Amino acid sequence: MSVVGALVRSLDGIPVMTDPNLVRVKSKDFYWYSPVLRRLLDDKLADAVVFPRSEEEVVKIARACVAAKMPLTVRGAGTGNYGQAVPLEGGLVLDMTSMKALRWLRPGMARVEAGLKLVDLDADARRHGWEIRMFPSTKRTATVGGFIGGGSGGVGSVTYGQLRDRGNVYAARVVTMESEPRVLELRGDDVQKVNHAYGTNGIITELEIPLGPAYPWIDTLVAFGGDFMDAARFALALAESDGIVKKLVTPMAWPITTYFKRLVGVPEGAHSVITMVAEQSLEPFDALVKSHGGAVVHRAPSEDVGRTPPLYEYTWNHTTLHALKADPSITYLQCLFPPGRNLELVEHMRSHFGDEVMIHLEFIRVAGKVTCSGLPLVRFTTEARLHEIIRYHEEHGVGIANPHTYILEDGGRKVINEEQLEFKRTVDPHGLLNPGKMRGWLERG
Ligand SMILES: Cc1cc2nc3c(=O)[nH]c(=O)nc-3n(C[C@H](O)[C@H](O)[C@H](O)COP(=O)(O)OP(=O)(O)OC[C@H]3O[C@@H](n4cnc5c(N)ncnc54)[C@H](O)[C@@H]3O)c2cc1C
Repeated sequence: MSVVGALVRSLDGIPVMTDPNLVRVKSKDFYWYSPVLRRLLDDKLADAVVFPRSEEEVVKIARACVAAKMPLTVRGAGTGNYGQAVPLEGGLVLDMTSMKALRWLRPGMARVEAGLKLVDLDADARRHGWEIRMFPSTKRTATVGGFIGGGSGGVGSVTYGQLRDRGNVYAARVVTMESEPRVLELRGDDVQKVNHAYGTNGIITELEIPLGPAYPWIDTLVAFGGDFMDAARFALALAESDGIVKKLVTPMAWPITTYFKRLVGVPEGAHSVITMVAEQSLEPFDALVKSHGGAVVHRAPSEDVGRTPPLYEYTWNHTTLHALKADPSITYLQCLFPPGRNLELVEHMRSHFGDEVMIHLEFIRVAGKVTCSGLPLVRFTTEARLHEIIRYHEEHGVGIANPHTYILEDGGRKVINEEQLEFKRTVDPHGLLNPGKMRGWLERG
């Protein structure tokens, strides 16, 4: 019997999947957004997928993997687009989606199992007058654990900043990958050890996540007929309007909205700003729209249920998804424009690259300052040209979180320092968790 076969047998009672077609599906995420990652990851497959239903089962699986020296890659919903959940060295995929209990909900805080979907947590919280403060545009499919393990921020980041900001994740309960696995409760700054670590240094079983007061959110699309910078200036003014309660401020240049097949009503040639604003803030919001010469062309309550997608499903990396569906040759970048010089640099990039780099911005707070990140759509020609575009941005002071690499450090959102490496040595001494993703570990002395 193969090593995998013997290991799977030893997990007696824990659901396992070995059907090659299903294993293939569970070995993939959204890495195919990147032509570079497609080349590197298309043939990477796990040997089997396990579905723990409790922390005790996670411990049992971890113990068996260590004994067999079997790689293990944790997976939530598999919506990451850096290839984070793709197993590079085979082994087991640990699908966390059966662990979806809401442990407790208190004013301003929730404790959940890691496989709970963000949309379900939000719905539960809203029943008690609270909501999740920030979510990726994949809220309707992604898990809380996957968001912390592989995400960075999203809808709500214009108010609350990013996941890595102190106070945005309170606690994480983690199973180690030692011969006798331990269960650690990380709190405060220690949470950063597993935050955005691609599941390389512990299996998160539970999380404590802060909540904000629930608002009735209204989706509005504002169109600007003239220059894109009119739309960008309006978006910056909205993001900086502290009195207007908002969750999303997303400018995008024409022709990006032409990729949104189900979103009609944007005038030919118009640039757009997609917003989510609390219902009670619409009066000052409309005054701001008027003062910037914009026109409201779509308005509806932001609903997670029903046939019409909420407008946030046209923003963040959904923008890229719609474009890719219409034109598979398109790819994208993830940028951070520095506060203060953001619009100046946006204007520069727009005039420098023209139609080759179509501007899509997301306004966020970074260390308390409002600025914009960017997920521009790039008309892909060659990898060399893609790297030239990245280099040009960096040389001009625009940070790039490179979405064309699966290496944790090169993605630009995680620094693996000695403290991180020491933690990895302790919790995963054999390097079995999502192997091949952490350069610091691969190059350790
Ligand atoms: C259309 C689209 C839009 C997106 N928009 C956003 C966005 O707005 N903001 C954003 O930040 N991201 C975004 N993403 C990326 C991704 O959807 C999110 O980060 C999402 O939260 C990932 O959750 P998931 O459950 O799918 O995680 P997965 O993709 O399954 O996992 C992500 C990473 O976390 C690790 N992981 C998962 N669960 C655990 C666990 N329990 N313990 C330890 N490690 C774990 C995995 O190993 C993997 O490395 C987008 C992706 C797509 C395709």
